[in-house]
Amino acid sequence: MFRIRQVPDDNSPANAAAIQQVQQILRAQFPLLDAQEIDGIPAKLRDPLKYRFRPVLLVAEDAEDRIRGFALLLHAPDLHFCYLDFIASLPGRSGSGIGGALYERVREQAARLGVHGLYFECLPDDPALSPDPQIRKQNAARLRFYERWGARPIANTAYETPVTPGDDNPPYLVLDPLGHADLPRRDQVRAVVAAILERKYGELCPPEYNHRVIESIQDDPVQLRAPHYVKVPPRAVLPRIAGRIPVVVNTGHDIHHVRERGYVEAPVRVAAILRELEHSGLFDRQEPRHFAERHIRAVHDGRLVDFLRRACAQVGTSRSVYPYVFPIRNAARPPKELPLRAGYFCIDTFTPINGNAWPAAVGAVDCALTAAERVLGGDRLAYALVRPPGHHAERHAFGGFCYFNNAAVAAHFLSRYGRVAVLDIDYHHGNGTQEIFYHRSDVLTVSLHGHPSFAYPYFSGFRDEEGVGAGAGCNLNIPLPENLTAEQYRAALEKALKRIARHHPAFLVLAAGFDTAAGDPTGTWQHRVQDFRTLGQLIGKQGYPTLVVQEGGYRVRTLGSNVRAFFEGLAQGAAQPAAPVERRREKRDAGATDIHWRDEVTATDADSVRDLTATAGVFSSDEVLIAEELVQERLQKGLDSGYHFLLAEQGGRLAGYACFGPIPGTAQRFDLYWIVVDPTRQRAGLGRELLRRSEAAAQAAGATHLFVDTSGRHAYAPARAFYRRAGYRKVAELPDFFHDGDAKVIFAKRLGKNHP
Ligand SMILES: [Zn+2]
Repeated sequence: MFRIRQVPDDNSPANAAAIQQVQQILRAQFPLLDAQEIDGIPAKLRDPLKYRFRPVLLVAEDAEDRIRGFALLLHAPDLHFCYLDFIASLPGRSGSGIGGALYERVREQAARLGVHGLYFECLPDDPALSPDPQIRKQNAARLRFYERWGARPIANTAYETPVTPGDDNPPYLVLDPLGHADLPRRDQVRAVVAAILERKYGELCPPEYNHRVIESIQDDPVQLRAPHYVKVPPRAVLPRIAGRIPVVVNTGHDIHHVRERGYVEAPVRVAAILRELEHSGLFDRQEPRHFAERHIRAVHDGRLVDFLRRACAQVGTSRSVYPYVFPIRNAARPPKELPLRAGYFCIDTFTPINGNAWPAAVGAVDCALTAAERVLGGDRLAYALVRPPGHHAERHAFGGFCYFNNAAVAAHFLSRYGRVAVLDIDYHHGNGTQEIFYHRSDVLTVSLHGHPSFAYPYFSGFRDEEGVGAGAGCNLNIPLPENLTAEQYRAALEKALKRIARHHPAFLVLAAGFDTAAGDPTGTWQHRVQDFRTLGQLIGKQGYPTLVVQEGGYRVRTLGSNVRAFFEGLAQGAAQPAAPVERRREKRDAGATDIHWRDEVTATDADSVRDLTATAGVFSSDEVLIAEELVQERLQKGLDSGYHFLLAEQGGRLAGYACFGPIPGTAQRFDLYWIVVDPTRQRAGLGRELLRRSEAAAQAAGATHLFVDTSGRHAYAPARAFYRRAGYRKVAELPDFFHDGDAKVIFAKRLGKNHP
């Protein structure tokens, strides 16, 4: 057992001792390393800026405070990258899982710093560069290890050129894009390589050498070498921060501050929400990164984008220009003078052109995309806390406090990876999102809102707007009365969720407005804090990977607590474990009879197990990979692998499975490694049936006791309750096992005679 922590400096005796042990490991593991470099570590931690890299020292410590391994990460804040200088464990300790846990933590740290990628060196596995087969084998093992996280050498560069001609084993430069969908541009990587060569190697590399290596980087964006070891490279693996919800805040939003009286879309909104979120312990801040403008242009007309940029710049920051003339006639004739043209691109008079509006609007899009990447990378929930809002912005027009449609940009971005549903729960109709996707069938848009007969934007949001062309039937408006009860709203939401379920989305984008709250100056409804919690639960339970994008909500006094309650409900709903947790019998239970059970594994199961664990939503990308690997191992070695499977199929599709096997070195003790149920079937009793049958099968294979590990976090309470109900007893709790504050809880059951 070990825990990983950061050692900031050597100021306390414990930290000084930790650093000394790190130095010992370095001397033992890297005998050729310059002694000065090892001795200099405390100085670097004390005075980071002197070295133009901010070092982050992470150590893995056991219960006796012995350092079992460490990683030294260098952060270059000026160029937004991280360089992993060292990662090592105590000699003879490899295979203990420390390397993987440390690397996971390194990625998490790098992701929190908002960098575009993590760079490091790895010795080559190419026989031409590494002639000794023994060394090459070790190099290959290391490259294979990193490939599992999507980190591979940058291809087509001369980085692996020995400084002294003729030397062997020149290192590759490996890039871990940290789950970012786009690889960095050529110039970005050139700057990174220049920084590594100059800051790290200094006088060791002559300027001509540096020049040659930097100039060799030609691909734009750079390319990674094809995967050599991992058959299906992870699409976008991002670290999960111990199950917390990543929140990406548009920190630059407050420059967009319209000081006219009564302008309710004000910076204090974000501050009010953040204050509450910080108390909840549910969130981790993730820095936004900047995305290319093409993502905005994918859903907005280029003329609108160009107009906003130029008009905002022309108007400047000291005043605001409001559109006031709208071209009902001659719409094809845009006026020449920019601010006068505003009405040509705008739907109302609420949304000023101002020098600060442009950077704030672009920043909001960046946040939505950064959060979308987290969802893409396997996070179950992510939150873009942004203003200005976006859902009133149409393809050709801004308005309603909105400039760019943040949720629509993110939904389009996600749609490249799977079907998307956008659910808009703002009090006002999401006219922009509807209009942008009106012709499309791959992005379903659903909005619940005050009826346009009395609520902004008045001209859209009617029930009969259902989409056109390919998008016919892919827009659902549920306009609601001026006064409504919580029950009425809940019924409407359930209807919306049913429509979404029929769309089978891979991702849900939630345009989350909180102006449905009691007392909101722009709404008429009475949602209170408990209503938001219930609403969150209902949505979370659907099991979709969900991106939440902040829209409206203007009653600052209750905004923060409403948002917090909503997310608490959402996380609770989302954390319903893969196994069913509700006893509620449903008609579907009868369906359990048409399930086909089998314990033989076939070649196609690797894919279906991966898909099932991925859609279950509770497992990290790495866990998904492990699930798939266990199937592969079983296929190769049969029961000698130690992995028994039980698979439940319905209608030819995998609806759930369990994996269990003997614990090496014990007498008749088995571990239950996995039990996963298709999220759409989670309340049909399938999990209970899987567990019952697994116990019986384990017993038939000789087991007398079955053990199962789970997490001690609040979110796993339903999972623990599930095992308790099935007769399991908690036998151990290992505090801080998975992460600080995240214990491993072990349940056990003696398998009795009452099993068939
Ligand atoms: Zn609104």
